[in-house]
Amino acid sequence: MQVFEIALLPGDGVGPEVIREARKVLLAVGKRYSRRFAFTEGLIGGAAIDAAGTPLPEDTLEICRKSGAVLLGAVGGAKWDGLPGDERPEAGLLGIRKALQVFANLRPVRVFPALVGASTLKRHVVEGVDLVVVRELTGGVYFGQPRGRFARDGGIKALDTMVYTRFEVERVARVAFGLASRRRRRVTSVDKANVLESSRLWREVVTEVGNEYPDVELNHMYVDNCAMQLIRDPRQFDVVLTENMFGDILSDEAAMLAGSLGMLPSASLGHGRTALCEPVHGSAPDIAGKNIANPLATVLSAAMLLRYSLGLDEESRAVEEAVMRVLEKGYRTADIFMEGTTLVGTAEMGDLLVEEILRGA
Ligand code: NAD
Repeated sequence: MQVFEIALLPGDGVGPEVIREARKVLLAVGKRYSRRFAFTEGLIGGAAIDAAGTPLPEDTLEICRKSGAVLLGAVGGAKWDGLPGDERPEAGLLGIRKALQVFANLRPVRVFPALVGASTLKRHVVEGVDLVVVRELTGGVYFGQPRGRFARDGGIKALDTMVYTRFEVERVARVAFGLASRRRRRVTSVDKANVLESSRLWREVVTEVGNEYPDVELNHMYVDNCAMQLIRDPRQFDVVLTENMFGDILSDEAAMLAGSLGMLPSASLGHGRTALCEPVHGSAPDIAGKNIANPLATVLSAAMLLRYSLGLDEESRAVEEAVMRVLEKGYRTADIFMEGTTLVGTAEMGDLLVEEILRGA
């Protein structure tokens, strides 16, 4: 039987708790579909600093490179806040993204029918929302050179550079079009081509790549308009493709459509199959160790891992359906609890998902 190697990096705060539940769910999937998953745990973030003196030990990188897929919890916490930038837990996160060369960050935002009421927006606006933001992750103004502060004419000048190459735009555009062709076949490419030179290149290259996908409808939207459309009529979107900084901002805005950070998964893809899958939320130190964190973002990240890293589509769907059914039955962790529903802890939520998955066996 084929063995699927999965690296688990629990990290800090609620990370270990939510990863534990995702692992349980993956084992249940293995049981139901006769798949063998082999897990190897690695240290990252503050936990790695404490144990090995660095946020991303070489051992962890080795485990990730050898595995077909990586599932990460979260990193960070007050204990390490005083450390210099490149020694902080978050440096481990940037380091692993770089090492795995993941350049496309996928953030699905799906409003589960049972959770429509959890959004701050009106029901008729968010009902049925099902979109994915594809954010370019390794280029643009966050990495562009030159950057820095300079003394100038007796004052001070600070500079960042927004730069894209044709190659960088092309490869992330292909991810977006490939994804859209397996969904509702619509790509909205977001830029600021009325002002920015890098956006004009972006638009040009995306249009060219789009010509290779005649079944996928492409439209272009300015980023300011997109920010507005996301809360005015989010159902118009299927795949939203955009550069690094715009994606950073828009994906957080889009995330709020779903109501809770505890529900939002992500996957970062590169050229290889090894995706880095992780919940969007952080280490939530305020609720760590209390068995109240919502594990669903991590479980849904595991579903993305099954689909994008391991090519196990049916298994991935089974996990998403289990999440939907458990929510429909009224089970909620504290962050999504509403009157008339049943409050459960982190581990109980995991047990309910396992039960749902095995029920289908
Ligand atoms: P956070 O996402 O950890 O928490 C924000 C709020 O959401 C908190 O009130 C928290 O209790 C709640 N929350 C988060 N995840 C939840 C879950 N699964 N279930 C229920 N509630 C949940 O963001 P923060 O408080 O700004 O940051 C805390 C630490 O996490 C910091 O050290 C930060 O640097 C780090 N961080 C890490 C990542 C990552 O690892 N990818 C991302 C963001 C922040």
